[in-house]
Amino acid sequence: MKSDYFVYLLYIIPITLVMFFYLRGHSKRTVVHTEILRETIEAGLTEPATLHPVVDLNLCMGSGSCVKSCPEKALGIIDGKAVLITPAVCIGHGACAAACPVSAIKLVFGTEKRGVDIPQVKPNFETNVSGIFIAGELGGMGLIRKAVEQGRQSITTISKRKKSNAPYDVVIVGAGPAGMSSTLSAHEQGLRYVTIEQESTFGGTTLHYPRGKLVMTAPMTLPLYGKVNFRETNKEALMALWEDVLLKTGIKINFGERMERIDHQPDGTFSVVTAKSTYHTNSVLLSIGRRGTPRKLDVPGEELEKVMYRLIDPAQFQGKHVIVVGGGDAALEAAVTISEEPGTTVTLSYRSNAFSRVKVKNRKYAEAASASGRLNILLESAVTEIRSDTVKIEQKGNVTEIPNDAVIICAGGILPTPLLQEIGVKIDTHRGQVH
Ligand SMILES: Cc1cc2nc3c(=O)[nH]c(=O)nc-3n(C[C@H](O)[C@H](O)[C@H](O)COP(=O)(O)OP(=O)(O)OC[C@H]3O[C@@H](n4cnc5c(N)ncnc54)[C@H](O)[C@@H]3O)c2cc1C
Ligand code: SF4
Repeated sequence: MKSDYFVYLLYIIPITLVMFFYLRGHSKRTVVHTEILRETIEAGLTEPATLHPVVDLNLCMGSGSCVKSCPEKALGIIDGKAVLITPAVCIGHGACAAACPVSAIKLVFGTEKRGVDIPQVKPNFETNVSGIFIAGELGGMGLIRKAVEQGRQSITTISKRKKSNAPYDVVIVGAGPAGMSSTLSAHEQGLRYVTIEQESTFGGTTLHYPRGKLVMTAPMTLPLYGKVNFRETNKEALMALWEDVLLKTGIKINFGERMERIDHQPDGTFSVVTAKSTYHTNSVLLSIGRRGTPRKLDVPGEELEKVMYRLIDPAQFQGKHVIVVGGGDAALEAAVTISEEPGTTVTLSYRSNAFSRVKVKNRKYAEAASASGRLNILLESAVTEIRSDTVKIEQKGNVTEIPNDAVIICAGGILPTPLLQEIGVKIDTHRGQVH
């Protein structure tokens, strides 16, 4: 009798306690993750951008390894199964699939609702159009290390192509990780190349990461520069790397030059047309990513220097009159952070009557900034003209002119699909099928 009691104390009580805390932890986790999912649905942010995990619910045993492995906090566990609770932040690096102990996760492109257009690219990075190559995220695989590797490999293929009379061997379009790496490689291999980048600086998508963002990558080798031993780093360290690369290698990139179109020449070469020049080339390497080109307002004065399409440093607007145009997360974040700078007068202009596809957190911050008088929100409004020190805004038929020092347009991007189709590159639309 006494020994039964001892067994009870020794085993049953600890097991019961472990089970109690385990179940309590699990139900708490379900509550938290369900709430995040609810906010995601409410914000209308239910579709992932491109590559993302799908979970086989028959296999998933809710171990949570995927949740822990995801640096973007895109996954959660609800009722014992893994769920993509914040699809919009998933960047598709697949750490979750690798971490799953029962292989219940597969990575797919697109969803039934939102197809993802991916150009057909051969293993040597050439498209179906002879001489047009694609490297990096445009080809579907979105990771820094892969973009760097593809940039290098595609130039090796290009360097083996039969020469033509064109003055350039290759025009490289874009200076993100793929474009930087391919430029380094072209320089190293002595190719006649030119690299054009629509933005005023390098880095591509990495330049747009939020300040201090944790960046997960793996060691990689940059041509001409050498081995980079990053695993876990942050945005600032990555930007410092690109800067060091430019400084030490002497590669040249034409910043602020956007590719407008590519024309086929009768001899199989190409003319790459920008607003500043036309380049006659034997091959073109498109390393333009998937963000597209910033959408413009097409209003008088948009060419003024004070007009920009992204926020770099809110502090530069201290004491200034700023207007932010747009109704997405980028616009709200820009307007709120600038409004926190001393002496700013910030107006947020959006053409719709509500911010319907934004994170709840951003909408709340914007409402709080508006309530405190720091931010003037003008819904159902449109900028009609930008002048050197004012901006004209139309709202419900009334036009007002307000003082202005800077305009930040966050109206999304024009995706490269039509441009690719125009030059004859074949595109497949992926809708989340598991292969
Ligand atoms: C929020 C976020 C977090 C991420 N975190 C990570 C991470 O932790 N680890 C990781 O490995 N990856 C991460 N990624 C993915 C990674 O940033 C991308 O896969 C990578 O930047 C792709 O490189 P890329 O060179 O192919 O394209 P991009 O970096 O997009 O560069 C394309 C460049 O082409 C330029 N361009 C486009 N069109 C034109 C034109 N017509 N003319 C001239 N120039 C043009 C653009 O301005 C841009 O500079 C993240 C992505 C996002 C959005
Ligand atoms: S693919 Fe990457 S970002 Fe997306 S859920 Fe998996 S680990 Fe997270």
